[in-house]
Amino acid sequence: MNLRVFQPEEIKQYEREDIMSLSITKNTPEERIAELGKECTGCGHCCKIDSGILFDEDVTRIANFICMPRDDFIKMYLDEHERFHTKCWKLKQIREDNKPYGRCILLGDDNKCTVHEAKPRYCRMLSTVSRHGQQLAVWFALNHFVNPNDPESIREWATYLKTHPTIPGGHLDELVPDSKRLKRILSYEELQ
Ligand code: SF4
Repeated sequence: MNLRVFQPEEIKQYEREDIMSLSITKNTPEERIAELGKECTGCGHCCKIDSGILFDEDVTRIANFICMPRDDFIKMYLDEHERFHTKCWKLKQIREDNKPYGRCILLGDDNKCTVHEAKPRYCRMLSTVSRHGQQLAVWFALNHFVNPNDPESIREWATYLKTHPTIPGGHLDELVPDSKRLKRILSYEELQ
């Protein structure tokens, strides 16, 4: 059996990464998450296979940035979207040959974001190629989509958790500490 011996500096690097990962919780401040999101190298990889999610304030900001009336911007560039039963907008994707993935409509031919200065908060914070991409995505979902007051949102999150890890603060009993209520939600006794 070939065992690789790690160098002290590599061990330090892994320890640093572990500590960084462990330090991301549902309550990590947005400024800290934005710092980690800056690890994005601007390679365009994420934007070639997916597109950004927008909330109302993003829609207004980007429409202003490209000097287009908000309604026209929505019509031309956005699709209605829903994540964990929370409504939002998603930038249209250009899909070739009916592929399930496609590039964001706002990605330029040079693979750079054409609205970089005004891009959605979602895009500023998440880079799937970042070392912390998975944790950042979970943080964003927990702080912007998963709604503990909405039973359907909690049920959809419960389904997600069957196949994905979460971060501290994102477990079902942390989101709904009342165990009887959680049971009612998961058994569809509490619908609304
Ligand atoms: S808005 Fe810009 S950063 Fe966001 S997915 Fe589209 S091209 Fe990428």
